Amino acid sequence: MKALLIHQHGGLEQIRFEEIDDPQAGSGQVRVRTQATSLNHLDLHILGGLPGRALAMPHILGSDGAGLVDETGGGADRFSIGDRVMLNAVLSCGKCEFCLESQHSLCVKLRLVGENSSGTHGEYFVVPEANLRKIPESISFEEAAAFSLVFQTAWRMLKTRARIRSGDDVFIHGIGSGVSTAALKIVKLYGGRVFASSSSDEKLKLARQAGADFCYNYTNSDVVKEVLGTTGKRGVDIVVDTVGAATWVQSIQLARKGGKIVTCGATSGPNPPTDIRSIFWKQLEILGSTMSSQQEYQEVVDLLAAEKLKPVVDKTFPLSEGKEALQYLQEQKQFGKVVLVV
Ligand SMILES: [Zn+2]
Repeated sequence: MKALLIHQHGGLEQIRFEEIDDPQAGSGQVRVRTQATSLNHLDLHILGGLPGRALAMPHILGSDGAGLVDETGGGADRFSIGDRVMLNAVLSCGKCEFCLESQHSLCVKLRLVGENSSGTHGEYFVVPEANLRKIPESISFEEAAAFSLVFQTAWRMLKTRARIRSGDDVFIHGIGSGVSTAALKIVKLYGGRVFASSSSDEKLKLARQAGADFCYNYTNSDVVKEVLGTTGKRGVDIVVDTVGAATWVQSIQLARKGGKIVTCGATSGPNPPTDIRSIFWKQLEILGSTMSSQQEYQEVVDLLAAEKLKPVVDKTFPLSEGKEALQYLQEQKQFGKVVLVV
């Protein structure tokens, strides 16, 4: 089969679209004939190399995918050949104290398809059958491929960790990324008000079309002052911060007293200054989050099937043009998800 893979870490110049042996479904596994996959920032992190992580090379990138069941291994009987399926990339051990409490994303051996094992950006991918769900009938392969990783992440961040309530005010930094656009959809599902920022007027226009209530271009406005003005000096209930170093100080200023800041990433860097006095005086909750449990994943798939949540697909590329697609992502041109079609 043809796949998007790397032989060594580095920049985009390391991306190859090459012939590689077809994967075979082992015990409890299913082989999926890929129809669509989507890019995540994770792909770029893995391309660059994660500290202390040695991958078997060549390594196929990709942590989201959708396609048709093509082969089932021994003991795998949940699906029939030809079923339309989508992937949940979370691989958990099933045995540790957190797995036994169904807190799969806290698993002490947490792994992800595409990060620790071979990924989805190929004509086939093989995963445990427990990681697949049937694609709801009204959902296309492209939408299914764009859904799982970012929606389960945003769902756990907002629903489980930040305990979002109906009508909450939520600030989302850097609107346009997959997780941030998923977060926008979830806040609107809860009837909340979305405050969004970006350096791009074009992205803010798209955010407004997607339901954002207040949009700020941080290159030419004082975001904190504007938000405090709009909220009567109160601030917002929840700040979704996936940007990190560049936005952290603002996040602390934007949160209301007793508010919450929830993070699942730090694309601009991991070590911002932080004002501890503001954290205790305002009694803020600083919440980390990553991926989701199997139950949380099922909850968002049910909302997808009920057409209450839908991913934003920004642009599709053929799988063979994966390098160009990753460059598009690296340059942060997207609003929503970048999808590769096989
Ligand atoms: Zn575990």
